[in-house]
Amino acid sequence: MDSELSPWRTRMYAELNAPLATVVGAKTAKEFAALRLHSLGDLLRHIPRRYLSGTELTDLGSLVQGEHVAVIARVAHLQRFEGGSQAGRAPRPGRLEATLTDGQGRLAVTFFGKAHLLGWWERQLGEGVAGLFVGKVGSFRDNLQMSHPEFVMLDANGQIVGSSSQDKARMASLTRAGLVGLYPATGRLPTWTVAECARLACQSVAGAEDPWPAWVRDRAGVDELTTAFAAVHHPVSLAEAERGAQRLRFDEALATQLTMAYRRSSAAAQAATPRPRVADGLLDAFDRQLPFRLTTGQVRVSSAIFDDLARSRPMQRLLQGEVGSGKTVVALRAMLAVADSGGQAALLAPTEVLATQHYQTIRSLLGELGGGRMLGAPEVATDVVLLTGSMGATARRAALLRAASGEAGIVIGTHALLADRVQFADLGLVVIDEQHRFGVEQRAALAEKAMRRPHVLVLTATPIPRSVAMTIFGDLEVATLAEIPAGRQSVSTVVVDAVGRPAWVERAWQRVIEEVSAGRQVFIVCSRIGGGPAKADQGKGVVELAAELSAGPLAHLNVGVLHGQLPSDTKDAVMSSFAAGELDVLVATTVIEVGVDVPNATMMVVWDADKFGISQLHQLRGRIGRGSHPGVCLLITHGDAADPARQRLEAVAATTNGFELAELDLEQRREGDVLGASQSGTRSSLRLLRVLEHADIIARAREIAEECVRLDPGCTTPGFADAVRQTEMLADGDLLDSN
Ligand code: ADP
Ligand code: MG
Repeated sequence: MDSELSPWRTRMYAELNAPLATVVGAKTAKEFAALRLHSLGDLLRHIPRRYLSGTELTDLGSLVQGEHVAVIARVAHLQRFEGGSQAGRAPRPGRLEATLTDGQGRLAVTFFGKAHLLGWWERQLGEGVAGLFVGKVGSFRDNLQMSHPEFVMLDANGQIVGSSSQDKARMASLTRAGLVGLYPATGRLPTWTVAECARLACQSVAGAEDPWPAWVRDRAGVDELTTAFAAVHHPVSLAEAERGAQRLRFDEALATQLTMAYRRSSAAAQAATPRPRVADGLLDAFDRQLPFRLTTGQVRVSSAIFDDLARSRPMQRLLQGEVGSGKTVVALRAMLAVADSGGQAALLAPTEVLATQHYQTIRSLLGELGGGRMLGAPEVATDVVLLTGSMGATARRAALLRAASGEAGIVIGTHALLADRVQFADLGLVVIDEQHRFGVEQRAALAEKAMRRPHVLVLTATPIPRSVAMTIFGDLEVATLAEIPAGRQSVSTVVVDAVGRPAWVERAWQRVIEEVSAGRQVFIVCSRIGGGPAKADQGKGVVELAAELSAGPLAHLNVGVLHGQLPSDTKDAVMSSFAAGELDVLVATTVIEVGVDVPNATMMVVWDADKFGISQLHQLRGRIGRGSHPGVCLLITHGDAADPARQRLEAVAATTNGFELAELDLEQRREGDVLGASQSGTRSSLRLLRVLEHADIIARAREIAEECVRLDPGCTTPGFADAVRQTEMLADGDLLDSN
């Protein structure tokens, strides 16, 4: 490694980032690339999925056809079938059949070949002897069977015996004291090849200094890194392997937390204009006219936000709370506080429908206070403007002008707010609704609109377990609104099995009619827009379902259609006529998922509900029960009752606790999905760490990271600098920023 050219400051990171080809050769490196393993570090963190003990037989009853497996079993019986030769025909190969047993179950193993090969295998195998067999489980006449497994025989101590010198060399790398590490492997990269390459990689990093100072390792209670690599790849005991894995998981957690901690400290070093609370201003006037009492949670979170706003460094806060927990009011109070102190606030929503809805909600909550300084308006009033991409040129120009002049205390919009032409007189606060749709570049672009960094408040309705929040939003302080304001109605959820009980679907439409007769409104949600040529397995889209319902069961109702491909003004028109009660039923895609607030909507029917994830369904049903009437949500599915998808639906029906559902959702998905980034093809800095399961490690790493930043604010420790660099690099701008 040429240290002059290496971007890494420690030898360890330089080694770990070396391309695999330098150690395993180009051909094998290509096979590893298919497993998304590119560097030495990738391979070293690709640890055995499990360890077999050479002295314990595998439960053959647990084998599943089609899987690549390694089993340790005893040869119960050997039988040889000679091949034959007939004049004029190619000679038929003979075969050797071994019946393996674990003492109870049986597995047939077959080898085909010429006589001398069969003889060699027969001598290797030997009745009564145990061996390790690796191969794919197939079946023959309804019995599980393996053809041509690779194998080695084991002695009573689990040590490899009597194979050829070549096999012995390959397999010896697998075991120390009878443990065999089984790697996630492919047909072209059998587990022993992986083991052998891992051994080479271990040798390559041997002697490289640990990137963490000794105090960090002590505090975390983990081993040295090279020890850990050896432990996971060639353990003497399961306990040793587990200790090694602990170190590797801790490293992932610490690298992430260090990155976040340094981000926090650099954000804290930025200057922001303090916006202390001003008495008898807009905020107080607003509070006086609020039609309800703030919940204690709202009061608590608001006061934390006011404290943040009064500081001379930018607030970086995430406010999470269930749908309907009253985040909008909290955000609005923060915006009013900023307006009171002479600044402006911008509210960013992910879609135009939402931006428009926010605008309407905020205008109606503010009443006269939001109508600008017109004659007769309260003296403290401010101007609220909406700015979207689809606005007409004149309206847009007027809105831009009011933002630039500072006349508008509150500017609401979509990404259009990030366009270059939008200027603010004095942007003091940026509120971002639904963080997961906003990237960090967008946040940064908006921050540049201010002379100094604005304060930032991010709202999310997706409940995020603490460990996940620390990992994804580690550069934000998290506040949570846990309770739902009194007076909010419950939503009861029922799963409707469209295949098993088709009559229930009829009943569902009947129920829609009853709801409308009672003066209420209904959402019907589909997973897709449809309207085009449908593929067989896709099911109905919004377009088809709306047409079918309008022509059939819901013929007498006013049915509207809403989806993302409609022109903006059509969307707005549909949304407003639904909000105004002119439409009884709205058949829509998930465009209604966030923020849509129509208190008179009390029922939701989700078509093909199994096409949605847990959190998404929970989010969707948050659209109903917002007024004074309880809500009902019907989840229609055509899926099989035994499907995992069905279990998801039952879980959603069983609880309304968003945190519980979020955890369940996370357990079912890969971390990559959880972190918001589409991880296909990209590398994640989290290979071994599972954000939920290892919450304690993440919390400890966070504490240690804070200590690191305190002791080394400039990030001069080479290992810290490398870890942060690596994390930012792997994140590629999206993993840690959850987009
Ligand atoms: P979120 O944005 O968290 O989904 P909202 O702020 O939109 O929630 O609030 C949902 C509904 O509850 C709104 O109609 C809002 O006016 C109302 N609301 C908010 N806070 C309270 C409260 N403290 N008491 C009663 N209703 C409230
Ligand atoms: Mg809201």
